[in-house]
Amino acid sequence: MEYRRLGKSGLQLSALSLGSWLTFGNQISDKVADELMGIAYDAGVNFFDNAEGYAEGKSEEVMGKIIKAHQWERESYVVSSKVFFGTENKGPNRTGLSRKHVIEACHAALKRLQVDYLDLYFCHRPDKNTPIEETVWAMNTLLQQGKILYWGTSEWSAAEILEAIRVARQYHLVGPTMEQPQYNLLERNKLENEYLLLFKEYGLGTTIWSPLASGLLSGKYTAGDAKDTRLDMKGMEWLKESALAEEKLAKVKKLQTLADELNVPLAKLSLAWCLKNPNVSTVILGASKTEQLKENLTTLNVLPLLTDEVMEEIEGVMETKPILPQF
Ligand code: NDP
Repeated sequence: MEYRRLGKSGLQLSALSLGSWLTFGNQISDKVADELMGIAYDAGVNFFDNAEGYAEGKSEEVMGKIIKAHQWERESYVVSSKVFFGTENKGPNRTGLSRKHVIEACHAALKRLQVDYLDLYFCHRPDKNTPIEETVWAMNTLLQQGKILYWGTSEWSAAEILEAIRVARQYHLVGPTMEQPQYNLLERNKLENEYLLLFKEYGLGTTIWSPLASGLLSGKYTAGDAKDTRLDMKGMEWLKESALAEEKLAKVKKLQTLADELNVPLAKLSLAWCLKNPNVSTVILGASKTEQLKENLTTLNVLPLLTDEVMEEIEGVMETKPILPQF
């Protein structure tokens, strides 16, 4: 396993990590969740990603039980939670980024995960109804209390992150260390355009999500193998519609040809492509089956295949590179 700094911070995360969205406490049994975490940990994965909103809190409960059962040393892993979406009861003050919810959600996540502190704590989305200043102060309070070690954002605009940094500097508080954006061959603008100044000037780290665009970039949907998958799950029609848009499918088909020429599974090619970006601190993997995770965890082996020529061929197929202003 390779370990990367989380931006300019001192914390080191495994380049490949494991997340639990839609799987833990929902799509997969607790037994499979346990196997996935065991396989990941044994392969050197040290970061496990979670959120209050995943399976309405159940995902954290499942992960907490697994961590406890394995008796892994606390120093050997990094665990996260995210605040914003709430758990099953979404009444007033049970969602969003007010001081009340940020602090109460942290306490609840610590209980569900059965840990004394969260290593990473994310604002899962921006909250347009709470001043950023209030959230920054709340995060700083949790930091001072030792309940969280690093805090960050997820899917915030560069302007919102900059405002959080500005507030933190004004009051000598600890600002955001990392952002969790979507990043994959089809979704690139934040990482490759919008956040460039944040990387260069502030050393922001990133823990990127949906590296396979929910499985599309494994090639299984273009191969007609869509049974027993995330996009078949009840309630995921919204995701299916956007993931399986015709234009995307056509690109993935062409990409499959390139992967076949290189003799690598498309999933590994797509994951390795994410790792090539030096502003990616860790690629969060998702898996519903142990075979998927085992395959994905060998991605580092294919990195040497991504030469400049191959990267250019990929650009030619995808045509998703953001256009940056020329000076
Ligand atoms: P991916 O885009 O990699 O999708 C993972 C899914 O793709 C798996 O659950 C599986 O679904 C399928 N898959 C994975 N590997 C293979 C393979 N080798 N062959 C075929 N199918 C495969 O990542 P996720 O969308 O799961 O995101 C990863 C993590 O990021 C999440 O668990 C979560 O922790 C985080 N996240 C954060 C968000 C945020 O807003 N901050 C939003 C979304 C995710 P199946 O078998 O069911 O088809």
